[in-house]
Amino acid sequence: MADISVTIHKHDVVIVGAGGAGLRAALEASKGVNTAVISEVFPTRSHTVAAQGGVAASLSNVEPDDWVWHMFDTIKGSDYLGDQDAIEFMCRMAPEVVIELEHMGMPFSRLQNGKIFQRRFGGHTKDFGKEAVQRTCAAADRTGHAMLHTLYEQCVKNQVVFYNEFYALELLKNEDHVVGVLAWDIANGGFHIFHAKATMFATGGYVRVYKTNSNAHINTGDGLALTLRAGFPVEDLEFVQFHPTGIYGVGNLITEGVRGEGGYLLNKDGERFMKRYAPTVWDLASRDVVSRAMAEEMRQGRGCGPEGDHMLLKLDHIGAGIIHERLPGIWELAYVFAHVDCTKEPIPVTPTAHYSMGGIPTNLSAEVVLGGMDKPEEPVKGFYAAGEAACASVHGANRLGSNSLLDIMVFGKVGGQHMAQFAQSLPEHVPLPENPGKRGIEEVTSLLNGTAGETMGAVWDELKESMEANCGVFRTEETLAKQRAVLQKLCDRYKKVGIADKGLAFNLDLIETLELGHMLDYSKAIVEGALARQESRGAHYRDDYPKRDDEKWHKHSLAYMEEDGSIRLDYKPVRMKPLTVPTFEPKERVY
Ligand SMILES: Cc1cc2nc3c(=O)[nH]c(=O)nc-3n(C[C@H](O)[C@H](O)[C@H](O)COP(=O)(O)OP(=O)(O)OC[C@H]3O[C@@H](n4cnc5c(N)ncnc54)[C@H](O)[C@@H]3O)c2cc1C
Repeated sequence: MADISVTIHKHDVVIVGAGGAGLRAALEASKGVNTAVISEVFPTRSHTVAAQGGVAASLSNVEPDDWVWHMFDTIKGSDYLGDQDAIEFMCRMAPEVVIELEHMGMPFSRLQNGKIFQRRFGGHTKDFGKEAVQRTCAAADRTGHAMLHTLYEQCVKNQVVFYNEFYALELLKNEDHVVGVLAWDIANGGFHIFHAKATMFATGGYVRVYKTNSNAHINTGDGLALTLRAGFPVEDLEFVQFHPTGIYGVGNLITEGVRGEGGYLLNKDGERFMKRYAPTVWDLASRDVVSRAMAEEMRQGRGCGPEGDHMLLKLDHIGAGIIHERLPGIWELAYVFAHVDCTKEPIPVTPTAHYSMGGIPTNLSAEVVLGGMDKPEEPVKGFYAAGEAACASVHGANRLGSNSLLDIMVFGKVGGQHMAQFAQSLPEHVPLPENPGKRGIEEVTSLLNGTAGETMGAVWDELKESMEANCGVFRTEETLAKQRAVLQKLCDRYKKVGIADKGLAFNLDLIETLELGHMLDYSKAIVEGALARQESRGAHYRDDYPKRDDEKWHKHSLAYMEEDGSIRLDYKPVRMKPLTVPTFEPKERVY
């Protein structure tokens, strides 16, 4: 095959990812400097578009609320693994970022008095856990759709340069500076080097590595693998959130907003079993608690259907009027994927892999940071991360519903501001290294020139099935050690994978093979982190260590990839000192 062209582009700021985090950052950065966004898909197809239930902010539109209560709930929800300064920062900024969206024209649902509609969501309470509060701001059950389209319009207005259907392959460094990325033009073929003063990864979550999941096909965690390969760490990857209500058999999400509006779960005896697991808030306990309760009911033979492998979510009693007004997307999803009319019958549901708490470690300015135990959190020059790909860490061991759309607005915004300032402070671009993108270029050319030994699909199927079986809602030493061995074999097989399509234009065989390589890399970090962590905390539940162990494990995991592809673990302390208010110390959880 003839040499494939390499084109170089130069921008002040380059953001990989056009979801809510990437676009919010681009909007802010473009106010000061020349800003480009690279996205694997057209921006409004990013997974943010699928977010349903809403974005949390203590606006007090329906009842009195306070950012300190929001902060308390988020710390407790995180099972005390969240960094308290970051959580405070996010909860305080929540009203501001939501009102900004309103002023940009985001079509929120409205209360009778014209203010933004707010609903209840799991784990969000008033007066330090006394009762559920209406804190989640929503545009019916299509909040992410409204948010992403609003942001895209604003970015176009601000002349952000978009490179749509470009796939980032490698993070470029010169000494200790990050200087951009190498990408592949999916539509036409060809390599593109994006040379930047500041580079951000806003590449989204990583739960496509599980068979049953609620995520878009593109959520393959590319940013994490590229970060690991560049020698930087990833944080707390073992914390993967399983959402309680995925549609049985397919995994599509039924928003927690359904339970916020009064829907509830039933077991095969028609019992509202959540009252036994969370006597105060029942079905609105946090997601890890509800998912485990469902799994436990099924383990004890109280699951529904002939196989006893799902539960029922009842909502017909809310009334067809409210369902069609506030949950129209849910009605449609249930009808299309579960073939039920939820104004009349319950929806069959099971826990589905939903959200990645872990990610690329960042500080309050969305700068990527280095540093393990007892070392300062030193920022990497020119490298930023925001959104689900990042770990700020505001969600700790478990994220509260409607806190992610908030996270992406807050850290997208501050990340954009800081990148613009950083870019303005550099008189010139730091030069590209010699042979920029060598590794990525070789990876693609060898796939295009190679012969097929092993097929990508077979390796991918085994990866997601084994991750679900061995590193899912429940984990043990035995299942995790088994998964470590499975991953080793899959990595060996991956080296022999070849692609049948040798074309340059829209070669999805090529893209999916690269994605699979990325997934294998960070799956090792998920499994190693989970195997080492001998405790149960938030979404990480070890059947063999069912208790939280603050003495040994009240710390963040950091995973680094060694030259030979193996994973080395390190740790760093949880930041317990908030910016202004008293610390919330770990306590027993009572729901
Ligand atoms: C079904 C569903 C419902 C949800 N509902 C809610 C909710 O109601 N409230 C809430 O708070 N949270 C919700 N969440 C979570 C929330 O939507 C996400 O965490 C959040 O939107 C992630 O935004 P992001 O910008 O980080 O990433 P994404 O929106 O996932 O965007 C990632 C971007 O990265 C790009 N990208 C990735 N890899 C590459 C690459 N190699 N090269 C180039 N581009 C790349 C993609 O093209 C995309 O543009 C929901 C999630 C799901 C799946």
